[in-house]
Amino acid sequence: MPIGMIILGRQGSGKGTQALRIAESFGVIHISTGDMLRAAAADGTELGLKAKSIMDSGDLVPDSVINGIVKERLLKEDVLRGGFLLDGFPRTVGQAEALLSYVDEDLQLAVHLYVSIEEVTARMLARGRDDDTAEAITRRLELYETETAPLLDWFTERGILTIVDGGGTESEVFDRLVDAVEEISEK
Ligand code: AMP
Repeated sequence: MPIGMIILGRQGSGKGTQALRIAESFGVIHISTGDMLRAAAADGTELGLKAKSIMDSGDLVPDSVINGIVKERLLKEDVLRGGFLLDGFPRTVGQAEALLSYVDEDLQLAVHLYVSIEEVTARMLARGRDDDTAEAITRRLELYETETAPLLDWFTERGILTIVDGGGTESEVFDRLVDAVEEISEK
């Protein structure tokens, strides 16, 4: 069975970088909702322009919008064949419920890439993306605690959560993630 996994972590935890590397190593399809929304914004589609102002403020795009985009992506041939690694989704309980209704047992692993608030704030200010203003960073971290952190218990209850320490060098973190993914691939 192809791998089906999600990576959760605060913005700035390094999950985007690591997700790309894991996807490449295991031949699984990387699906980043942030990348999809930024691409739509760059294309100037109606959805993209609406999303852009929400993203710039650090708020979340409504579940009704993002769930549809993800559902459509998960049904594409490459994902059905190669599996998926979702990065940046789900971010709310509503999104997690929608995801399980689409993939059910195909979701085998939820990784929590843990990095402290102090460390992610420093990393985000250093990367200087244009939606990384101090206000937007604070807003995103608040929303992570209120909307996304509850998902950690939710996935623990389902027995699929693994916590990975996101501290240290990029390759140290990568090695820890590989171990976590190999554990489920061996099952
Ligand atoms: P990211 O690249 O994952 O940090 O996402 C950048 C921005 O895109 C976020 O701050 C949100 O505004 C929006 N976004 C990305 N994924 C989601 C999602 N699953 N639900 C709601 N908004 C999202």
